[in-house]
Amino acid sequence: MPTVDISTEVAVIGAGSVGIAVAYYLARKHGCRNIVIIDPRDPMSLTSAQSGENYRNWWPHPVMTAFTDDSIALLEDIASETGNRINMTRRGYALITRRSQPDDLIEDLFRGYGSEAEQLVRFHTGAGSHSMYQPPASSAWEGAPGGIDVLQDKALIRQTFPAYADDVATILHVRRAGSISGQQLGQFMLEYIKANGGRLIRGDVTAIETGSPLTLRIATPEGHKTLSAEKVVNAAGPFLKDVADMVGENLGVSCVYQQKIAFEDREGIVPRDLPFTIDLDEQTLSWTDEEREILSEDPETARLTQMMQGGIHCRPDGAEDGKWIKLGWAFNHKPSDPHGPEPIDTQFPDIVLRGASRLQPGLATYIGKLPRGAHHYGGYYAMTEENWPLIGPMRTPGMFVAGALSGFGTMAACISGELCADWMVDKPKAPYAHMLAPSRYADSNIMAELKAQASRGHL
Ligand SMILES: Cc1cc2nc3c(=O)[nH]c(=O)nc-3n(C[C@H](O)[C@H](O)[C@H](O)COP(=O)(O)OP(=O)(O)OC[C@H]3O[C@@H](n4cnc5c(N)ncnc54)[C@H](O)[C@@H]3O)c2cc1C
Repeated sequence: MPTVDISTEVAVIGAGSVGIAVAYYLARKHGCRNIVIIDPRDPMSLTSAQSGENYRNWWPHPVMTAFTDDSIALLEDIASETGNRINMTRRGYALITRRSQPDDLIEDLFRGYGSEAEQLVRFHTGAGSHSMYQPPASSAWEGAPGGIDVLQDKALIRQTFPAYADDVATILHVRRAGSISGQQLGQFMLEYIKANGGRLIRGDVTAIETGSPLTLRIATPEGHKTLSAEKVVNAAGPFLKDVADMVGENLGVSCVYQQKIAFEDREGIVPRDLPFTIDLDEQTLSWTDEEREILSEDPETARLTQMMQGGIHCRPDGAEDGKWIKLGWAFNHKPSDPHGPEPIDTQFPDIVLRGASRLQPGLATYIGKLPRGAHHYGGYYAMTEENWPLIGPMRTPGMFVAGALSGFGTMAACISGELCADWMVDKPKAPYAHMLAPSRYADSNIMAELKAQASRGHL
């Protein structure tokens, strides 16, 4: 038995949004004072620093709708308590299509909102029909309407969103959606944790010896240390698999790299009051014949000349009187090894601008000439095949996991933290707790349902 340098009740591996939230709810809700968070990096500096920081309660399955709804309620509590230190806004998500009868999308709405859908979904159809649609009056989250407005009246669409191209036929405006500052959220939680006895250790967990307590070997700048903990949380983001390997488990998580660009919209193409906008339609990007020929020659780039999936994101970023915008497109589906060099694609800015200019044609101005200071970055979506998270006990006694939060870990950090903390004190109250725990893989009914899903809620 190695000499133990530090003993604690709980050790959380990973100081990203999720690990910090687990520690926060253990301290805040369950009064746990003896918590150590371990990370070799600055808190919130890996995947959590790359987030677009958007949130929404739209999902094609009621479990994920309830999960994110609960997280948004916790975010609202923190916003109220802190005078909105987390900069919560609520202009909604505008999901755009050129299809006038997108029955599959409407079915997803009804499936996702379950028994409440009848009350929540409002249709605005027919030219000139009297409409009860309320465009977002401000960015304030308090008082913003809930539910979803389905706009199918072209005149209403034109009048409300003149920045979109004329061919938009339907907008699903999800109203319980907007943005927060994930960094401020993490900072607020860390302050609470530290004020209540918790602490951070800078170091890399390199091995775990099972038993009661569990023993962790940590490589710190001062040399190796040994820590014993009654309970350990694997919140290692893209490295969930490494930590699971240390106790001989496999969590079935892969890492898929996704990218964004942010730049100053000097031409003022994107209105500052635009909701977070997602163009859902597939498209073929426009290339010159010469460009098309060059791209087709390389199997890696040939796909850029073919039909591309929908899902291009665009939103104004920062203050309403500012100029920055963010664009993203999660079209990559190829898993990568997060230990290797980041697979950042130098063509991405050009690709996303071409795609986004179909909906907001003025953005084409920036193709090949992004303003100085533009930022191109990315991070890993750590995800399960079904795109549901893993929160709850692992098979190893005393080990828990909170991760695989894919592209929704900022919005779902609070509920993931609370749910994991509840599991750790053996009181998982949320009705969906078992569906999101690793034990779901042993439930053939749940897994059959998940396999049959037409959409995994990947936006
Ligand atoms: C481009 C992009 C855009 C996104 N946009 C959104 C969005 O708009 N809204 C949203 O809700 N979500 C979004 N996400 C997803 C969100 O950012 C992630 O789900 C979330 O940040 C994951 O947090 P995490 O704490 O699990 O992981 P991380 O933030 O990666 O934290 C994990 C931490 O664990 C540490 N660690 C790993 N291994 C060890 C070890 N052995 N010992 C000690 N420490 C270890 C790492 O150093 C790291 O700091 C986006 C993600 C990307 C990549």
